[in-house]
Amino acid sequence: MLIKEIKVKNIITKSNLPKSDYCANPYVGCSHACKYCYASFMKMFTNHTENWGEFIDIKNWEKIDSPKKYNGKTIFIGSVTDPYNPFEEKYNKTRELLKQLQGTTAKITLQTKSDLILRDLDLIKSFPNIRVGFSINTLDENFKNDMDKAVSIEKRLRAMKKFYDSNIETVCFISPIFPEITDVKAIINKVKDQCDLIWIENLNLRGDYKIKILNFIKYKYPELFPLYNDIYNLSNTIYWENLEADIKNFAREQNLKYVINEDNIKKSLHSSPTIVNFFYHEQIKKTACKKSNSKNTYKE
Ligand code: SF4
Repeated sequence: MLIKEIKVKNIITKSNLPKSDYCANPYVGCSHACKYCYASFMKMFTNHTENWGEFIDIKNWEKIDSPKKYNGKTIFIGSVTDPYNPFEEKYNKTRELLKQLQGTTAKITLQTKSDLILRDLDLIKSFPNIRVGFSINTLDENFKNDMDKAVSIEKRLRAMKKFYDSNIETVCFISPIFPEITDVKAIINKVKDQCDLIWIENLNLRGDYKIKILNFIKYKYPELFPLYNDIYNLSNTIYWENLEADIKNFAREQNLKYVINEDNIKKSLHSSPTIVNFFYHEQIKKTACKKSNSKNTYKE
């Protein structure tokens, strides 16, 4: 693992992600090394030649002078790294960022695959408008271990419950959904009493990880390869359309709200969770990427 400290001017930058005005990523790279990581394309914008997951740059930045300037805005922490990757334990950069943001009323989302976030529970609680999201795309620890080096699903679920029980808004991000491997309904059943929002996003394959994932499926789940070939090489969208309809029905049966735009949700904390469909998020991300690439820069 190559570890380097770097200086950046601003830790908070304008975001091209939908629904986020700003992003903050206290690290470049991510040691969780998820095989499906769309952020791995970030490598193009760094001088790293190592594989994704084998380098991490620890950012040092100029102190945020006025956190109140973000009032009324949205800040997403962890769009291209996990802010609670194992290096956070030593370098405390996410903790430092949160301390510098104290006083803002911005809507902050922290997205992680780690229970290290529990360390900052008291600090996180001190923000008036904050939520924590845990990425969980399987309940099968073996599949999880094939896909990432982050903490177990069990630990993520326990951490989510502790935040929920501490009256903090929690999100279960079921992403990416692997066709016929991710059991979306089983995950919803597992988390519905300990989260406020359930985001669902399908697996999109592009860049050099497409071939890696398809080879993995061919080797580990050969019976599913024709389906993956259909979806990812022949661009057949029927599987997703059927899955969407199925989840929508399931939500109705379970008395859960189901929306494609969370802006319109009016709900009180810890009422039954709302499922938010992000199946078409990838198109938006691609557009955002194209826009920033055309300026020869990448916006997180
Ligand atoms: S945790 Fe997120 S940023 Fe880190 S490797 Fe996995 S998908 Fe990429």
